[in-house]
Amino acid sequence: MYTRRLFQSSHHQWAWRAAFWKHIWCRPQGAHRRTHSRSSNYRAVIFDMGGVLIPSPGRVATEWEVQNHVPSGTILKALIAGGENGPWMKFMRGAITVEDFLQEFRRLCSEMSKTSVPVDSFFSLLTCEQVAKPFPVMTEAITQIRAKGLQTAVLSNNFYLPNGKSFLPLDRKQFDVVVESCIEGVCKPDPRIYKLCLERLGVQPSESIFLDDLTPNLKAAASLGIHILKVNDPETAVKELETLLGFALRIVVPNTRPVRKTMEIPKDSLEKYLKDMLGSQTTGPLELFQFDHGQSNPTYYIRLANHQLVLRKKPPGKLLPSAHAVEREFRIMKALANAGVPVPKVLDLCEDSSIIGTPFYLMEYCPGLIYKDPSLPGLEPSQRQAIYTAMNSVLCKIHSVDIKAVGLENYGKQGDYISRQVQTWIKQYRASETSTNPAMERLIEWLPLHIPEEQKTTVVHGDFRLDNLIFHPEKTEVLAVLDWELSTLGDPLVDVAFSCLAHYLPSDFPILRGLSDCDLTQLGIPTAEEYFRMYCLHMGLPPIENWNFYMAFSFFRVAAILQGVYKRSLTGQASSATAKQSGKVIEFTSNLAWDFAVKEGFRIFKKMPATKLLKRSYHTWASPQCLLNATGMRSYISFPDTSRANASKGALVISPEGLSQPVREQYCRLKRFMEQHVYPAEWELQRHQASVKRWTPSPLLEDLKEKAKAEGLWNLFLPLEIDPEKKYGAGLTNVEYAHLCELMGMSPYAPEIFNCSAPDTGNMELLVRYGTEEQKARWLMPLLEGKTRSCFAMTEPQVASSDATNIESSIREENGLYVINGHKWWISGGHGEVLFDHVRVPKENMVLGPGRGFEIAQGRLGPGRIHHCMRLIGCSERALALMKARSPMQIKVGRKGALAPGLSSRWRSGRQRAPAASTPCLAAIPALPAQTWLNCQVEGFLGVVCTVPVLTVKSRVAFGKPLVEQGTLLADIAQSRVEIEQARLLVLKAAHLMDVAGNKAAALDIAMIKMVAPSMAYRVIDRAIQAFGAAGLSSDYPLAQFSAGARALRFADGPDEVHRAAVAKMELKHCP
Ligand SMILES: Cc1cc2nc3c(=O)[nH]c(=O)nc-3n(C[C@H](O)[C@H](O)[C@H](O)COP(=O)(O)OP(=O)(O)OC[C@H]3O[C@@H](n4cnc5c(N)ncnc54)[C@H](O)[C@@H]3O)c2cc1C
Repeated sequence: MYTRRLFQSSHHQWAWRAAFWKHIWCRPQGAHRRTHSRSSNYRAVIFDMGGVLIPSPGRVATEWEVQNHVPSGTILKALIAGGENGPWMKFMRGAITVEDFLQEFRRLCSEMSKTSVPVDSFFSLLTCEQVAKPFPVMTEAITQIRAKGLQTAVLSNNFYLPNGKSFLPLDRKQFDVVVESCIEGVCKPDPRIYKLCLERLGVQPSESIFLDDLTPNLKAAASLGIHILKVNDPETAVKELETLLGFALRIVVPNTRPVRKTMEIPKDSLEKYLKDMLGSQTTGPLELFQFDHGQSNPTYYIRLANHQLVLRKKPPGKLLPSAHAVEREFRIMKALANAGVPVPKVLDLCEDSSIIGTPFYLMEYCPGLIYKDPSLPGLEPSQRQAIYTAMNSVLCKIHSVDIKAVGLENYGKQGDYISRQVQTWIKQYRASETSTNPAMERLIEWLPLHIPEEQKTTVVHGDFRLDNLIFHPEKTEVLAVLDWELSTLGDPLVDVAFSCLAHYLPSDFPILRGLSDCDLTQLGIPTAEEYFRMYCLHMGLPPIENWNFYMAFSFFRVAAILQGVYKRSLTGQASSATAKQSGKVIEFTSNLAWDFAVKEGFRIFKKMPATKLLKRSYHTWASPQCLLNATGMRSYISFPDTSRANASKGALVISPEGLSQPVREQYCRLKRFMEQHVYPAEWELQRHQASVKRWTPSPLLEDLKEKAKAEGLWNLFLPLEIDPEKKYGAGLTNVEYAHLCELMGMSPYAPEIFNCSAPDTGNMELLVRYGTEEQKARWLMPLLEGKTRSCFAMTEPQVASSDATNIESSIREENGLYVINGHKWWISGGHGEVLFDHVRVPKENMVLGPGRGFEIAQGRLGPGRIHHCMRLIGCSERALALMKARSPMQIKVGRKGALAPGLSSRWRSGRQRAPAASTPCLAAIPALPAQTWLNCQVEGFLGVVCTVPVLTVKSRVAFGKPLVEQGTLLADIAQSRVEIEQARLLVLKAAHLMDVAGNKAAALDIAMIKMVAPSMAYRVIDRAIQAFGAAGLSSDYPLAQFSAGARALRFADGPDEVHRAAVAKMELKHCP
């Protein structure tokens, strides 16, 4: 949509190519006859041969006489001597043999010149192939005349050759009628031969035009009523004939135009140069056209005598460094031709700027088909498939050239190609930059950080696309690969990506017609992925995983090239008058490049760790002993503080008892705080949550926060690794925090009370790692102090957000601000749904820099990942505790702080009790009814507590025996214990790995715990609910809320399936 709107407004289909070749093949002569348009009354055109279709004997004689020192004019005089009965005319009527003619002619010439004349040599020259060649301009004209439905005839005064055949060096198929004097025995200007010709054509004299270079012949024709045209030179004659006929007779080489004023080259000097190069026989004026879209190296079409050439030169003016190296183009085409790669035949390189002002080279014009439209309209799907296959295989051919064997090993540096290319294009872009382009800025930072490892070095074309190939007119065979300006040695995959540019551009894209809005399957065109696969298959390579990088680089390069074109247009050097339109196109292509970079970023992100599976060199110790780290693993021993405080770093501490003394003390303080302040507050907090005041902070919660802060139980989550000086947090390792986090997970309110709740934790971590000092002061400090809350808005209702590449929200720069548009929902902290409608954000609010989200994402691969999991283990423990609680008598109700957490919410007070059959169920969680999770330790309620019957598996009886004696419940308890322990060990192991080997190395374990913990918790909680009967679903107990929370985490932290896929991928990657 966007692109449509963007480009529909542009009427300029301007081009940008480094060099533009649009030699569309014209149908072979006579292949197709169309109906006469009847723009005039002529039905036939009759041509004399010598002097009209081929050089005249008189002209050939002039040069021959000079070379053979024969007095000028001798031959001509001898030719006309004797008139109708002279040897020449007799010879042309077929009345005498070659030998007789030459004998007679020799005698005549010698008499006239008073010297011996080697007439045999003249005769040989006159009839040799090099000289007796049809003028291309006439050949073209005949084709056009016939294409218009008119007839053509050749009416020739000719003769027999020594081999007995008549002399007619023409393609007979071009003529409807051929009348030869030597066969008919009649010569022009005898009227009979004209009449014969007209008769055979079946036309009246007035319906025909006759072209000759000799006046007597023309007069004779005119006297019969035939229209006549005197030919002095073929070019002018064709122009006059065009006027008579009323239609064009010259093949217009497609996409050529008269040379632009600013691009003119000195014709005389060029003509002289060409004549020297092509040989003395080269006659006729030089015709010069310019290929109309050449923006980089101006390219010209040349016609001179029988030669059709293409000239490529450097553009005039000051050039960007290393650009426009036509010498290199010449060199590589020459070398590749020897290696069997189809390229146009190069003829000459002229490095002498004095000829036309700049160096240039010449090659043969290669007629054939160029498919400008990549959708290949008018072809069958099978033909399209064949064309793309041929394109793919010619690319493989280029990439398979033995660079050493063809002498190209120093054609470019070897190795680090992409890295160098990125730098080159950055430099080129900077040199021609006219204003700041945000996507380009992001790419300039991103590309160097994501350079792929190169597999091999080959010849790289550099601009390999369908419209740079000339195809055979009848077969799907590539005749020539054009445009080698950007060729070098390098990573061949760059070419593969470049060949797929069109796949991602819309069909109305102004500079290169695209395919992105076409149904490729229906058309028979391979998709980009299929094209890449085809290439790998041809080359015997494994599939290319990181092709999004190559696409990003390709579009970046296109944008940089376009920027160069644009800059030149501003200084008047661009070949295209419409190059100024390029601004929009540059923006579009750079955005496209960035989209690919984003995709590649996601791929890398999903694939992490990209490294080998770690050797299992860590140990499961239940003591606080410090592990000695294996070489290469992360170690904390370099920290100055080597006290006991850090003793558990590097150790996998599987129970709180194993924590170092200070951390154990912290754990105990936290536990006490939970028992003294958090569990008792749950009822009140839950009531607030369900009240109309729920959108204002609960005073109780705020009070508890202050208390927690005062006790140093604050910001416990910030890992030591990012905060080694404990500037912002408690400086715990991941393993240490895991144990504390489990405790916090036992109450839904605890994380916020200790300022350890998501998404604030992740956001604070992000700001600590990546925020500027100003950003930290503005956002981090209030968050650390618990004075503000934050959110994370990624999920969008309209797209599957588990795949972040689907995200549609946009951010763009406008007038020094970022403008955000998008639709977000499930934003934690109320789970809000928010529409961002042109939300303007000051630029200084951007964290780290535009386009650096992946660095942030990758840097944040750690701690937050275990928080949810450890909390889930905490809440599973609480569910299990509730399930197995035995009797009220076991609870030491009189002593504060001694209550097992699972039991704290089992009782209801008569006074506080909610309506009995409250309605909780999973769906009701966000709005729990105002009822109780009464804690027995709430002052003043103890007496009541003890009177309330307790729901336990031991005390409750069903079918004649206590629940606890029902085998299934025992099994459920056992199963739950086992599952909790398994999950905890795995989570602790992930935390341990993060501590000793780094977050990236722990990626597999992190994916595993995300897969395991929520479903484990969900199962354990579900069993507890089952054990409680309907009460388990009521809001009298926290189980329903826990259940909903665990269930939500099966997708809130990424769907199970995504984690499963990640684990499987990593597992398969390391198959032996
Ligand atoms: C309580 C809660 C809090 C949340 N908090 C936030 C928040 O703060 N900020 C925020 O941005 N978002 C938040 N979310 C949203 C959450 O991140 C998304 O729900 C989650 O990323 C999934 O995206 P989706 O809902 O669009 O599901 P979809 O992407 O539409 O996926 C739907 C289902 O498709 C299946 N599926 C998806 N991918 C695959 C795969 N690769 N293989 C197989 N099956 C697959 C899974 O079954 C998945 O559940 C929260 C959600 C909840 C429930």
